[in-house]
Amino acid sequence: MGTYSYYKQTEDADLDKFIGNVNLQDNAFSSSLSATYDKQDMFPEAPCSVLNEFGMNRFYVPVQYGGSLSSYEQLIDLWRTISRHDLTVAIGHGKTSLGGICTWLAGSPEQANTLGKNIINGDVVSWGLTERYHGSDLLANEFEARETPQGWVINGEKWLINNATRGDMICVLALTDPQLGARGYSLFLIDKRKLSSTDYRLLPKEHTYGIRGADISGIEFQNAVISSDTMVGERGAGLEIVLKALQLTRTSCVGLSLGAADHAFNLVFDFVKQHRMYDRYLIELPMVRRTLAETYVKLMIAELVSVVSSRSIHALTGEMSVISAIAKAFVPTMVDELIAQLGDQLGSRAFLTEEYKHGMFQKLERDHRLIAIFDGSTVVNRNALINQFHLLARSYKKGNYDKDGLAQTMNLNDELNKINPEKLQLVSISGCSILQSLPQAVEQLRTLIINKKLTETRLLALAETLLEETNALIEKLSACVLSAREVPQSHFELAAQYELCFAGAACIQLWLHNSDNSSGRFSQALWMEVCLTHLLKRLNSEFKFDTSIYEKFLTSIISEKFNSQVSMS
Ligand SMILES: Cc1cc2nc3c(=O)[nH]c(=O)nc-3n(C[C@H](O)[C@H](O)[C@H](O)COP(=O)(O)OP(=O)(O)OC[C@H]3O[C@@H](n4cnc5c(N)ncnc54)[C@H](O)[C@@H]3O)c2cc1C
Repeated sequence: MGTYSYYKQTEDADLDKFIGNVNLQDNAFSSSLSATYDKQDMFPEAPCSVLNEFGMNRFYVPVQYGGSLSSYEQLIDLWRTISRHDLTVAIGHGKTSLGGICTWLAGSPEQANTLGKNIINGDVVSWGLTERYHGSDLLANEFEARETPQGWVINGEKWLINNATRGDMICVLALTDPQLGARGYSLFLIDKRKLSSTDYRLLPKEHTYGIRGADISGIEFQNAVISSDTMVGERGAGLEIVLKALQLTRTSCVGLSLGAADHAFNLVFDFVKQHRMYDRYLIELPMVRRTLAETYVKLMIAELVSVVSSRSIHALTGEMSVISAIAKAFVPTMVDELIAQLGDQLGSRAFLTEEYKHGMFQKLERDHRLIAIFDGSTVVNRNALINQFHLLARSYKKGNYDKDGLAQTMNLNDELNKINPEKLQLVSISGCSILQSLPQAVEQLRTLIINKKLTETRLLALAETLLEETNALIEKLSACVLSAREVPQSHFELAAQYELCFAGAACIQLWLHNSDNSSGRFSQALWMEVCLTHLLKRLNSEFKFDTSIYEKFLTSIISEKFNSQVSMS
């Protein structure tokens, strides 16, 4: 299967090779087996065993604790590779990465080293934040831990937990000091194997719309006594640790979306190249080609946002409260949209569960619906952005930005810093360097044109339009009356526009920092032009653009990627 990634990292390429030829009937990642697991609501053991043999768990453990996780960019690429074949497998296997994260951020070295060893040896770790009646409202959580001379006594239910049943360990958020509000929650890493069977009850598997094979269940603790060394981080710091951990996990989730988008493209391109109607192949129909082209641009934009967001974890760590919210709201939404458009090209085959590659399209479409729900839904992430509107507007107007952090994020050949969790902040004091650097980026493009180092004046025109749109948006953010409880719908629309401006600024910066690197998509002027054009079209429905250049570029991409000689009309 093809990848649409702008480059392939070594481990990613190795994993692809390890997975092997998925078109072979006996491959653990074959679509027939994937469909069987899905239909029978069965956990996908065989492909997960392949991932275990590959040593995927190493990438869930930071290098300082014995694993191979040194870059979130790499983890995202690996998840993209798995999701390109089966999103259920990526979610079912990858959850251990989320289960461990609070321990990497706040656990003692001993806790982190032990957990690292356990995960590398194959332990499955789940993450229990959500409760049945409170969903995204973590501050309403009731699961409690009471301190006693014997240890902590825990009681309560965690529900809709990935791998709650299969998992060996679970990291839970528990109320330890109800009178302290947000400082009343603490985290515990519980090893189920150390408890007796009466200490907890596993809740039945929930039957789900997508990721049917995954173990989505729950767990209820009943006066279980756990030792004090199971607490992760300080007493009362649980919510803060979780909110910081979510900045990393929400950003990583983009890999799942990108993989699902690749999968959708693979299925649809194969189909439109082979399916004949009206004496022509489907790919020859202008409407089909236009849709393929547009969805491909959407994937490129989702990819560029993913790339800068994952690199920002290392280089702009203190700004992740903003960047992770953008990534998690923007990328899955864009991918849901492109999957729906691509599905239309399959006609009935997007709806049938047995036809055309074992009904893989409808499976991935269902599976992907989850990405915008879990780990903070789109609304929750936009709300996180809204809470920072005034700060973002002030920082933009000041025009300051982190030059070194920006350079490292954007220079794709630069080694990334080791991630420093101490730099994670609940609110980004410095705003959003990527957007705040937009005026300077436009100036840089202008200078390139004046010095005749750049001939495409239309790039500058697009960048200037983006700057105007951004300036106007920033004024609207400043004028918003913010309230924690009464958040109007218009604020959510402004948050969505902020995401588009961010994507546009990231696009220009990626091009400026990589245009002299002849390999790679981000060096191409036409790549930048087509992405900016699409973003401006979304920002302002009246935006006029030169369709001929847009389509010429898309035709070139389609023929390069899919070996189709048919020109687009
Ligand atoms: C398959 C699956 C796997 C999961 N795995 C895990 C797991 O491993 N660990 C875990 O802890 N949890 C897990 N969850 C739970 C998941 O994180 C929650 O479903 C999610 O937090 C949303 O909660 P909820 O479904 O109760 O919806 P709610 O948060 O209650 O939302 C209900 C509605 O309110 C809206 N809403 C919420 N907040 C706002 C807001 N601020 N402003 C406006 N509208 C808002 C939502 O958009 C939605 O329409 C999983 C869920 C699923 C479906």
